[in-house]
Amino acid sequence: MEEQIPTIEYNTENTERADGKKLARVHSIESFGSVDGPGIRFIVFLKGCAMRCQYCHNPDTWDTHSDELVTADELLAKAIRFKSYWGAKGGITVSGGEALLQIDFLIEFFRKAKELGINTCLDTSAQPFHRTGVFFEKFEELMKYTDLLLFDIKHIDSDEHKKLTGWPNENILDCVRYLSEIGKPIWIRHVLVPTITDKEAYLLRLREFIASLNNVEKIEVLPYHTLGIYKWENLNMPYPLKGIPEPTPEQVQLAQQILEGKA
Ligand code: SF4
Repeated sequence: MEEQIPTIEYNTENTERADGKKLARVHSIESFGSVDGPGIRFIVFLKGCAMRCQYCHNPDTWDTHSDELVTADELLAKAIRFKSYWGAKGGITVSGGEALLQIDFLIEFFRKAKELGINTCLDTSAQPFHRTGVFFEKFEELMKYTDLLLFDIKHIDSDEHKKLTGWPNENILDCVRYLSEIGKPIWIRHVLVPTITDKEAYLLRLREFIASLNNVEKIEVLPYHTLGIYKWENLNMPYPLKGIPEPTPEQVQLAQQILEGKA
């Protein structure tokens, strides 16, 4: 029997101002991002994530509460100051945490950005995605204003995905399939964690899945790193991947070639 995806406790406090404008819970902002999407980008990291990836380098984004609540207009005003650096390819990326937990805000933010001709990119693990009800209607709406998705596939095997993140992956892979159906461009990202995601059999399965899609513009193998361990320590949480080494450049290159069907 297919496993039931547990529902998420959404934090719905303070998501709308009295005048109806949506509010975002912002974790942080990077004015000159160069790795999260094409060109130079204004990156907004939103708060809240239900996943518990064992290698998460931003566990301080998990909590959905935030003292910093901003409207789409306020964030756009900040972003536009950097517009002259964006060139033809750059723009705005919203990341997290898991940005889809604030989908109402995202719709308003990206709609207004598109009205100003700004390129919009969503960095997501798609954990809240399901093809039903109000969420799906909102997701379809959001896709009208989203130019590109950076799509994190944490593990191709659902049982292993659950061990690694706390959640199965069926709905996540279904989100990728849906994006392929509507022809929405995506970059697939995959964190290479020695002994966990680097097994050839898993990489080949992921390759097969990617090959079945028609919307993948780029594949990025990201090496697992330990730079976020101090954040786990600051939050008094034991780091689950202690002792797992970072992959070598050769391991990363081989995984990249496998996912691109070149090895
Ligand atoms: S989805 Fe991202 S923010 Fe959430 S736990 Fe995983 S790595 Fe961290």
